[in-house]
Amino acid sequence: MTVKEIETTAASEESISADINGAAVWTLLEKHKFAMRMALRVCAHCGLCAESCFLYVARDRRPEYMPSHKFIHTLGTLYRKKGHVRREELESMCHIAWRRCVLCTRCYCPLGINIPEMIALVRRICRSQNVVPDFENASGWGKTNPWSKQHENR
Ligand code: SF4
Ligand code: SF4
Repeated sequence: MTVKEIETTAASEESISADINGAAVWTLLEKHKFAMRMALRVCAHCGLCAESCFLYVARDRRPEYMPSHKFIHTLGTLYRKKGHVRREELESMCHIAWRRCVLCTRCYCPLGINIPEMIALVRRICRSQNVVPDFENASGWGKTNPWSKQHENR
C-alpha cells in the first residue's frame, strides 16, 4: 500500500481498540506528516546513527537500541496502521519511547533524520491516549507495565 493510499483510507478506518482513539492518533501523526514521511522514506537502514547513541553502546549494541529501530518500530508501525493500534502495541511503543531513549539528541543521521523529534512525537501520542510510564511506581506494575520485561524484546 502506498503512502497516499494509507492517508486516503485513514479517515474511514474504525479503531480496533475500544480504548485507543485511532482517529485522534492519526490526527496527531498527520500534523507532523512531512517530517515523519521523510524519515520513514529516506532511512537507508545504514546503522550509522547507532554509534552516536550511548544507550545502544551501553546495552551491548543490541539492535532494539539502535535509534533507527526505535522510530521504525514506533512511528513506522503507527503510520502503517494509520493510528489504529491495540493498547498493548501502544504500551510497547511507550516502553521504547521512554525506556530505550532519553531524548538526549546526540544521535546523528547523515541524511538529516531528526530521530529525537520522532521519538518525542511517539511520547506525545502515548500521552494523548493515557499510555504513560508510572514513574512513581515503576517496580510494582502489572502485566500492562510498559517498563516490564515482557516488552523488552519487542
Ligand atoms: S543514520 Fe539515518 S539513514 Fe542511517 S539508519 Fe540511522 S536514521 Fe536511518
Ligand atoms: S535521543 Fe534517544 S536515540 Fe538519540 S542518542 Fe539519545 S537516547 Fe539514543
